[in-house]
Amino acid sequence: MARYTGAVCKMCRREGKKLFLKGDRCYTGKCAFERRSYAPGQHGQSRKKNSEYGLQLRAKQQARRYYGIQEGQFHKYFLMAEKKTGVTGHNLLRICESRLDNVVYTLGWASSRAEARQLVVHAHYTVNGKKVDIPSYLLKAGDVVSIRAKSRDSVKIKTVLEANASRPIPAWLDLNRDNLEAKVLALPERDQISTPVEEHLIVELYSK
Ligand code: SF4
Repeated sequence: MARYTGAVCKMCRREGKKLFLKGDRCYTGKCAFERRSYAPGQHGQSRKKNSEYGLQLRAKQQARRYYGIQEGQFHKYFLMAEKKTGVTGHNLLRICESRLDNVVYTLGWASSRAEARQLVVHAHYTVNGKKVDIPSYLLKAGDVVSIRAKSRDSVKIKTVLEANASRPIPAWLDLNRDNLEAKVLALPERDQISTPVEEHLIVELYSK
């Protein structure tokens, strides 16, 4: 499973906005973007205006970085989205949202998507009662995600749950906080997806 191993905060500085990739740290004065809100590198403070292609590329990179998806996988999602009925851009975001690591993060069972990915790989969750340790596993309406019984007493899981207990849960997920179980009621509509992605620019880029 390929993943980005470089400096995470540089991605926010490159995109010119906070991508909230490091959990709690993103909300503190330690945030690198708060301290240096210009792009990294020698010419970071003298960047020129983006071309149309540049804007499309940035939109795609931002979406990938929000969700922590590598280029090849993201392009595959685009091809899947194109084949589905409806608006391709919305379909693309819906696929990204339905990844198990994203759902774990959205439920407040991890402080960031990167942490969610790690916890999934460490097999802390089940889908429909079966252990799933693949972050890119795509959930569908009706699936039930749960924290494994043997993981519920883990200090790590308890700490994460406590830290994110107040995270608002979108209406497409039905979370039972007592059972530590959540049902996917339906895949999200566009207005239920809070990730600030300009998906039409991504579609334009891949359609060239
Ligand atoms: Fe981005 Fe969070 Fe790093 Fe700030 S702390 S630069 S929001 S990843």
